[in-house]
Amino acid sequence: MTQKKETLCITWLGTAGVLIEAGHDGILIDPYVSRPGLLKVALGLPLKPDQQAIEKWLARLETKIHAVIVSHSHFDHCLDAPYFALKANAPLIGSKSTLNVGRGVPLEEKYLQEAETGRGIRIGPFLLQFIESAHGPAFLGKVPYPGKIDQPLTGPHPARDYKLGETYSILITHASGVILHHGSAGFITGMYEGVTSDVVLLGIGGRGNTQAYLENVALKLRAKIVAPIHFDNFFVPLDKKMKYLPGVNFREFLTTADQYQNIFRLKILSIGEKSACNSWISSPPVQ
Ligand SMILES: [Zn+2]
Repeated sequence: MTQKKETLCITWLGTAGVLIEAGHDGILIDPYVSRPGLLKVALGLPLKPDQQAIEKWLARLETKIHAVIVSHSHFDHCLDAPYFALKANAPLIGSKSTLNVGRGVPLEEKYLQEAETGRGIRIGPFLLQFIESAHGPAFLGKVPYPGKIDQPLTGPHPARDYKLGETYSILITHASGVILHHGSAGFITGMYEGVTSDVVLLGIGGRGNTQAYLENVALKLRAKIVAPIHFDNFFVPLDKKMKYLPGVNFREFLTTADQYQNIFRLKILSIGEKSACNSWISSPPVQ
């Protein structure tokens, strides 16, 4: 690649939401800032994106958003993403189900781009590659809201209508390093055969066995840095103090990950705080 080496930065937005930036060029993945309460979701009430919160975050992030990417179409990944795309004049990239959420907004067809495995997409200074993945057993040992969204999702809908669609991991290659977004805590054995990444943004909510998960994802990718994401309670508003997702067992994740400290380092992100990751990439863990 011919781009100059710029500082790569990651800002965690809670859940699996991240901004990845190189200079003033950014891409958003799974931005979710509306965070309606548990009662609303559990009662099956229609969910409305919080337009003010979306605008506030776009202003706060202060960068050119080149694309909004969605890893799967559950509400905590896909409710707000089309509105981020609309307000940022950026394409929405994701599965057919995700694009049907975009059509319901409505986003014009020219702003909808379907993710495909095996074909890279150049966005600003980044090369994006989608890798088929699997959703974790997040609710009572099962994948919540399976199925696809076959029609444009017009108007407010309850959480159950935000069906899963395809689940993707997203490999982001830049001259300064490679970042992988693994938004949901499932995996397909062998999915990372021949793939390496410096940094893994690892969704840990609703995971199964932590050791098997780390071995099949972080170790296979030969990651130098593992940054857990999707461990915050997303029924709590973003301007309130972060709470852990019930049942996420963050301590168990840390203890298990600690066994691999000669292979990768853990980076614990704080919501809304921008972290430059060039130095993480260039200084591997002490052997
Ligand atoms: Zn999900």
